[in-house]
Amino acid sequence: MKAVQPFDVLVVGKGNAALCAALSARDAGVTVAMLEAATVEESGGNSRFAGGVMRFAYSSVEDLQKIADIPEDEAKNTDWDSNTIEEFYDDLYRVTSFRTDPDLSEALITKSLEGMVWLRSQGASFVPNYGSQSAIVNGRRVFFGRFPLTANGGGAGLVEDLTKTAVKKGIEIFYETRAISLIYDGERVLGVRAKRQGKLGEFHARAVVLACGGFESNPEWRTRYLGPGWELAKVRGTRHNLGEGLRMALEIGACPYGNWSGRHAVSWERHAPEFGEVERSHDPYRHSYPLSIMINAEGKRFVDEGADFYNYTYAKYGAEVLKQTGQYAYQVFDAKTKPLLKQEYGGRNVTRFTGSTLEELAEKLEGVDPQGFLKTVREYNSAVRTEVPFNHAVRDGRGTAGIEPPKSNWANPLDTPPFEAYGVTCGITFTFGGLRINHESGQVLDLGYEPIPGLYAAGEMVGGIFYFNYPAGTGLVSGLVFGRIAGSGAAAAVQVTPARKKA
Ligand SMILES: Cc1cc2nc3c(=O)[nH]c(=O)nc-3n(C[C@H](O)[C@H](O)[C@H](O)COP(=O)(O)OP(=O)(O)OC[C@H]3O[C@@H](n4cnc5c(N)ncnc54)[C@H](O)[C@@H]3O)c2cc1C
Repeated sequence: MKAVQPFDVLVVGKGNAALCAALSARDAGVTVAMLEAATVEESGGNSRFAGGVMRFAYSSVEDLQKIADIPEDEAKNTDWDSNTIEEFYDDLYRVTSFRTDPDLSEALITKSLEGMVWLRSQGASFVPNYGSQSAIVNGRRVFFGRFPLTANGGGAGLVEDLTKTAVKKGIEIFYETRAISLIYDGERVLGVRAKRQGKLGEFHARAVVLACGGFESNPEWRTRYLGPGWELAKVRGTRHNLGEGLRMALEIGACPYGNWSGRHAVSWERHAPEFGEVERSHDPYRHSYPLSIMINAEGKRFVDEGADFYNYTYAKYGAEVLKQTGQYAYQVFDAKTKPLLKQEYGGRNVTRFTGSTLEELAEKLEGVDPQGFLKTVREYNSAVRTEVPFNHAVRDGRGTAGIEPPKSNWANPLDTPPFEAYGVTCGITFTFGGLRINHESGQVLDLGYEPIPGLYAAGEMVGGIFYFNYPAGTGLVSGLVFGRIAGSGAAAAVQVTPARKKA
């Protein structure tokens, strides 16, 4: 490979975290390049596949108007929900069973709103998420779930907007360039060895930001760290996040941190392809399960489908599906709830069975014990507390009594034909284990908790934020906040560090 000019800051990856790191380093006045393993067409990592919802702290519609154009009449006539700093803390601590790192979560939460405003200044654009996070209640539009805004064009739109800005600001992007190891002299990281279009080469830099994802796309690492069976999960996003950034950093003595056996994994179309497909990235979503009962091959329920809004349970329920016989389950609905299903349920490539009676559906359900299924439905139907009114825009408390597992909200007897069942398996989104970083500079710490000169990390590579579960919309905001921190941390270090001596 032809020698490449040294750069001040080299960013590995080209997802949201990498782009935020590169842009904030560039704005600090240093030269920046990015290495992307994928081709131009496939570039952008999981960020490109993301739905685009973003969970940041806000307390009023005025905060939202700093980020998106919301006309005054729309602002007044809508209930925008809220996600105050306190509410964000409560959610993050609750879903992570109080394991989230206090310093990292404080940075994430308290810098999230200013981060969104900065993102807008970098060319990203946001719109209200009417489609999937709001409903009309008593004639008024009401948001729920605490993330009323989404990136315009989803994650793909966000990556495209930030890439345009990066190119405009003179950031060089090397595609089809897979980093394979760090250049390290025992004291400082001095660059990256990479394979570019099949040829090995070196990229020298005064600081390196690793923002190249977790190990979700690597079946061998999934089995090693998440456990047996995880090699069978479908990958929801990119095929390029193989854990290489983590490996490179661990090889030079970086400190691992966080929930290495933890992951974000959801109920996903049963026959989805092995990896995500960017053009059809939404087709396999099956997030309407709180309105369903989910049954396994034995015909039994196995989770509280209505424990909370999907955005607080979906990231952990994929693992529950993976545990079932054959790694599949069905979400069963009747005609009453069908109009409330997200639009993907009506799309193409959907594993769907329909019956005009429950008995007919039971006979059709591939790989399910019909008698077990019918018994489950009978017990469930008679356990629903129908005296409590149904309201899908709030946690309505319309649950079940006397069955295990219970269904805590949105329970409706399955009694109105036609009945429908949707086949799902486990789709992994990303892994939680990562590196230990300094929350103020993004610098990677070594095994003795000392910063490694010249090495920074952001995005999925940061360990210690998510444990067991995840509040929806936090991945992109984590990439944003820690990408900015790492980019400006690396740039600041470069400005005070003498240039590399010639060997
Ligand atoms: C289907 C789906 C929907 C999602 N929806 C949302 C959502 O709505 N809201 C939300 O907040 N989060 C969502 N997420 C999660 C979110 O996308 C991720 O948490 C976030 O994008 C991670 O950003 P990142 O920059 O750390 O990693 P990525 O975006 O995955 O970027 C990693 C980059 O590193 C590159 N790379 C990997 N290895 C190498 C190497 N060795 N050398 C060079 N480059 C390399 C990859 O090609 C890629 O460009 C979703 C994820 C998926 C898969």
